[in-house]
Amino acid sequence: MTLLDGKKLAKKIESSIAKEVEELKDKGVVPGLAAILVGDDPASHTYVSMKEKSCKNAGFYSIVHKMPNTISQDEIIDTIKMINNNPRIDGILVQLPLPEHIDTTKILEVVDPKKDVDGFHPYNMGRVVENLPAFAPCTPVGVMEIFKEYSIDLEGKDICIVGASNIVGKPMAALLLNANATVTVTHIYTKDLAKHTKAADIVIVGVGVPNLIKEDMVKDGAIVIDIGINRLESGKLVGDVDFENVSQKCSYITPVPGGVGPMTIAMLLSNTLQAAKRRVK
Ligand code: NAD
Repeated sequence: MTLLDGKKLAKKIESSIAKEVEELKDKGVVPGLAAILVGDDPASHTYVSMKEKSCKNAGFYSIVHKMPNTISQDEIIDTIKMINNNPRIDGILVQLPLPEHIDTTKILEVVDPKKDVDGFHPYNMGRVVENLPAFAPCTPVGVMEIFKEYSIDLEGKDICIVGASNIVGKPMAALLLNANATVTVTHIYTKDLAKHTKAADIVIVGVGVPNLIKEDMVKDGAIVIDIGINRLESGKLVGDVDFENVSQKCSYITPVPGGVGPMTIAMLLSNTLQAAKRRVK
């Protein structure tokens, strides 16, 4: 079994981004990322501070707009419109989830698609589906980078995605279809999950349920990508896969932590750098 080391790959990508940032600075451009952080969800605060730290390490300019849970939708929209017009900012990220009284779709649609480095705007999502140049959501792109790094061929492979959210499962399916894989997307309403996972050469899980994928649900030699991030009561961070037992059976597997998570941040920086390069042009 080979461990797919997302942490190491993310470090490599981030250090090459830092070099490019130095070159851009010589042309008078510093890539800028703005984050919108609403409420006091501890996980969201942790993710945003990790992203902020990576931005700083790469030499980006970064700002975080922290807003209380009680903020109105219009106030968030006004802030995004202001950032859309800020020439120092190349990328905007709205940390999800937003409070229940906020319409997430409406908020994401206000982000200028040219600054939509999270790839959540329907414009970018549509272009991803059509295999056109676009900002694709960072987590699925991070998974694609892992496949590339480890020379895992996707063409004609049977791939089962577990979880069908707009930010993980659906864009993951689009990217894999574009890579000529045969894709099955499963979710909470899937009748017999194990039937689909067992038939797959590659299983990609992003659900948010610890130990959902057990050893009898994957075939021998399968490749397993665990996107889930779950904090147990003990404080331990785990994915959606029973790593200890599943890892005995598969050929490649991502750990949690240290697998897909760091790649998501690296792809956010990569998308923001692309946006900054367009500013130079
Ligand atoms: P979500 O709640 O929006 O979607 C969950 C999906 O899983 C849904 O499609 C749902 O139908 C499906 N699902 C739920 N229970 C299921 C079950 N028992 N069997 C099969 N399918 C089931 O969640 P999300 O935002 O897509 O996040 C999913 C997980 O991925 C979470 O643990 C989240 O923390 C993690 N995540 C990790 C990263 C990263 O960088 N590694 C990025 C985004 C999300």
